[in-house]
Amino acid sequence: MPPTPTKIAQKDRSQQRQKAMIADHYERLARIPESGEKSVYTFVPGNLTELVRSFGLLPVLPEINALQSAMRGKSKEYIAIADRPGHSEDVCTYVKCDYGMMKSGNVGPTGERLPAPDLLLLSYTGCFTFMKWFEIQGEEYDAPTGMLHVPYQAGGRITEPMRQYVVAQLRDKVIPALEQVSGRSYDEDRLAECLARSARAEDDLVAVLESAKHRPSPIDAYFGGVYYVGPIFSAFRGTDDACHYYRELRQEVEERMRLGLGPVTPDGQLTRERFRLVVEGPPNWTNFHEFWRMFADEGAVCVASTYTKVGGVYDTGFRHDPSRPLESLADYCMGCYTNLNLPSRVDLISRYLVDYDADGLLIHSIKSCNSFSAGQLAMLREIEQRTGKPGGFIESDLVDPRYFSAANIKNRLESYFQMIEQKRPGAAS
Ligand code: SF4
Repeated sequence: MPPTPTKIAQKDRSQQRQKAMIADHYERLARIPESGEKSVYTFVPGNLTELVRSFGLLPVLPEINALQSAMRGKSKEYIAIADRPGHSEDVCTYVKCDYGMMKSGNVGPTGERLPAPDLLLLSYTGCFTFMKWFEIQGEEYDAPTGMLHVPYQAGGRITEPMRQYVVAQLRDKVIPALEQVSGRSYDEDRLAECLARSARAEDDLVAVLESAKHRPSPIDAYFGGVYYVGPIFSAFRGTDDACHYYRELRQEVEERMRLGLGPVTPDGQLTRERFRLVVEGPPNWTNFHEFWRMFADEGAVCVASTYTKVGGVYDTGFRHDPSRPLESLADYCMGCYTNLNLPSRVDLISRYLVDYDADGLLIHSIKSCNSFSAGQLAMLREIEQRTGKPGGFIESDLVDPRYFSAANIKNRLESYFQMIEQKRPGAAS
């Protein structure tokens, strides 16, 4: 799932910092054959970055490598490599892109080679594809898999037995696997220090996301949002770098808000906010800037999005808690957006529509991501009924450029914006 895109649209200090953080991380990964450090491959939702880092291990996030490949125009050739041995067109294209990248020398987003995994840490199973993905990686690299089964929030809440079920697995399975790979013993104080840093960064991230309640919104919480969640959803949660990044970002956004500025888009400052949208679903990565421009050109600003919650829902109050490290990690894993049942997602989105004073909900449905796309039309109908705000629906794919039809999406967006205009109070009927 989520991102740390290569092409930074807004050259603020925070974004320069993020770029440098990513470059340093990938350089360190590339040096592993000489340095002897170890890497752990793991997925974004429910990742255990603080725990991994507390053992001195370096995280690698395959979804991020896939989306980065798409942004660099490499995913088409990688997916073609996966098509040849018969990976069906319905398979998640992140997997196919990653497979093609592996078969092409495993060169990461910065052009440097990624190390083979020392451990595949499957810390989330809300999407069945994750398991099959690591089966492929396991075969390719002959690497061990550490498994954390995270119960789905079917009843809409986390119960104590669910929490203890996850904590027991962390203690009995995951921590021993990390001890074995790293050669170090579990150090709960060290983990708690990482979690305290996470909580600080999470506070600042929430302030950034909530700035979109302001008119005009100083941020785009979907297209800009994917840059903002990059460090916290990936290899950096719990680090000093992440704390510095989020503090700096918050200061920049608060300054924009104070000056009454809108978000920065691929073509510069948005000067007139015409539509305020809540967006459900991941973005398209192959044509990311073209897609963003379709909104920016119409003065449409995304004021809240669900995609920026797949690696953690912090704006409802969750923070990593150093006073109960393993319980807190368990709650984090179970609380990720795609681990919420559909009624909880409907509640969350309906609340966003009201709290962010949005004009409507737009769903961007992803052809190859069943995990995200299932139930979206039912959610749309329910939310329209509940809030009275119009819904829109567009489709493309994550990283397969064959499924991005610019004309089609643009047409649908234009109709949707017209519908919003017609439904405004005082509009001619
Ligand atoms: S199907 Fe969706 S949730 Fe599952 S791995 Fe692919 S992109 Fe992620």
